[in-house]
Amino acid sequence: MKIFTIFGNPVSHSKSPLMHNYVFKKLNYDATYTRTHLEDGSKLKEIFFSQKLSGANVTVPHKEVAFEACDEVRGFAKKIGVVNTLINENGRLIGYNTDADGFLFSIEEFKDIKKILIIGAGGTAKALAQRFLEEGLTVDVLNRSENRLGYFKDIGCKIMHWDTFSSSKYDLVVNTTSAGLKDENLPAPKEIIQTILNSTNYVADAIYGKLTPFLMLAKEKNIPFKDGSDMLLGQGVLANELFTKNTLSKEDIKKYMSESFSL
Ligand code: NDP
Repeated sequence: MKIFTIFGNPVSHSKSPLMHNYVFKKLNYDATYTRTHLEDGSKLKEIFFSQKLSGANVTVPHKEVAFEACDEVRGFAKKIGVVNTLINENGRLIGYNTDADGFLFSIEEFKDIKKILIIGAGGTAKALAQRFLEEGLTVDVLNRSENRLGYFKDIGCKIMHWDTFSSSKYDLVVNTTSAGLKDENLPAPKEIIQTILNSTNYVADAIYGKLTPFLMLAKEKNIPFKDGSDMLLGQGVLANELFTKNTLSKEDIKKYMSESFSL
């Protein structure tokens, strides 16, 4: 039996084990998917091989150390230095990123998106920013602290931190911070969030499974919004295809994975 896991801290909230196990069961794929609470990211590779894993997902805050741990990184992940999916290929650790395409899938219903504000500057923000730029969109990034913003400036985004924030009109604002995940924090001070929400057409949050304080404010203002569930589905389908080496039908994976959300 093949073993997969998700590495993260926190990881108890993750729906990935439920999603992947349901697909494996429904499609008679001989595998199980566990969760691994990982404090020290530098141990990721050692633990991956000691658990005899065939593959894994990586979540907050280890996606950048996962990139460093890989023997080889493929596709879009190489461009951004952020890995959320790992595969054991004959004892070599191969890294991929399925988050950005998962997010694009999730916002298909939002129309005429040209200018986007990303709140946050972590791994998810990098993936989305790079992918949006590839689609020809204008991307601004707002983060709590300054030190992670250099990457975004270099790839052509306008960068701001809380002290240098200035308002603009956006088609879409996305929260990619972990504010609201395990607490009730907004991703920026309330005055800034209010200003941002007063001039955007759509709102999205990468966090799933709860109405974050950020989404709650969007809801109060009647702005169309979505949480991270469809992004989760999108990235999960792509990761499952990698885990099962394209032996299962994508439509079936998608069908059962979305069915697992209502379990
Ligand atoms: P990282 O740890 O790489 O980045 C976290 C970011 O959040 C940093 O920019 C950090 O700012 C900011 N941040 C953390 N706490 C606060 C706070 N209290 N107020 C303001 N900013 C804060 O995380 P990831 O990019 O890996 O993940 C981010 C979120 O996206 C998580 O909640 C994760 O669950 C979610 N996610 C969901 C997915 C889905 O499928 N739906 C897929 C991927 C991620 P600073 O630089 O100042 O520290």
